[in-house]
Amino acid sequence: MHRNGGRSPFGARKRTGLVKRVLTGGIAGLAAGSCALLLLVAGSQAVGLAPGPADKSFSKSDTVGPSQEVLRLVGMDRRRALHILRKLPDPVSACLPLASGNRDNATRQELGQLLEILSKSATARILLRVATARNALLCLDHATDRFAYYYAHMRLIGVNARINEGRRIAFLAHELAHVPQHPAYSDNRHFPPQDLVLLRRVREAAAEAQATQILWELRQAGYHHAWDAKLNTIYRDIARAYEAKVGEDGSREGQLAAARASFDQWFMKQRRLELYDGMTVDHLRRISEDDMGLVPPARFLSHGFLRAIGWTGQGNYLSHREDLDLTTGFYRMQMSVTNAARLAEIMRAHPSLASSENGPARRYPLGPL
Ligand SMILES: [Zn+2]
Repeated sequence: MHRNGGRSPFGARKRTGLVKRVLTGGIAGLAAGSCALLLLVAGSQAVGLAPGPADKSFSKSDTVGPSQEVLRLVGMDRRRALHILRKLPDPVSACLPLASGNRDNATRQELGQLLEILSKSATARILLRVATARNALLCLDHATDRFAYYYAHMRLIGVNARINEGRRIAFLAHELAHVPQHPAYSDNRHFPPQDLVLLRRVREAAAEAQATQILWELRQAGYHHAWDAKLNTIYRDIARAYEAKVGEDGSREGQLAAARASFDQWFMKQRRLELYDGMTVDHLRRISEDDMGLVPPARFLSHGFLRAIGWTGQGNYLSHREDLDLTTGFYRMQMSVTNAARLAEIMRAHPSLASSENGPARRYPLGPL
């Protein structure tokens, strides 16, 4: 939506300061499957979750086709149904279509209870309206090795069935925050690789900031289990940064400043940067080998474009601290030695990219943190 005059992910018109070249990238640049936003690959090991089954690239459903029941679940979109069936063998039993609200089996009732808890937060209610308008599916996943996930191209939100309610809410809030980020902030191969690294960092930091805001609102409404659960994850520093700031000023403005503090805190942990940068490098390696491959950069991130991701429907927490440019310094800090080496290897295989006039090396030198 930002491509068309800077609408916010919620549809409200915002001044984003888009530069003209940002408008030049088209939908063709969106890489299929690139929107999967996965949480806590490392964290899942920390709590001893057993790995789930390997991703099947082909299943029986691909040949026999999805059933009418599955098709109805996804608005008769056959392609979407096939993608979802590769992740979940029985989406009819495991998923609640947010748009229908049917609670006609035990799993849907369980998922409905999560939604009722989330609805105590004004910020979550806005996100749920967006997800409902997009006919997103909310699913309880018994096999995944992640706490939660959101696949934007399938509009599929999954929550691990083996974690307790507080954790489910904590991770679901994060994944819900990803929903309005797409497609405006999806990975797009018309960005230079280093912009894609920054874009994922900003998406994740923004989802964490908004999730923390939701958990704070739930705590204020008397539901503290999700906040407490977050304090037992590798994201506890983000919750603490929020709490320290909101303690100074609990007003609406104070909450926006606290969300900004959470956003900034996301960038403070080297291990976190390494983990998510590594996902971007994985993504770049995948698309470098597909039919379109890597293309010379035609779009570049701007501060105004990135700032609009901080719009929550009630204000923009990234409008605090306007002195910090989201495209530079602190946010754009260099990658780990390992990730930089892996990215350099991909770039070496595509010399036309590195030598292009808009080559990423000019804007963002590769190197260790
Ligand atoms: Zn995420």
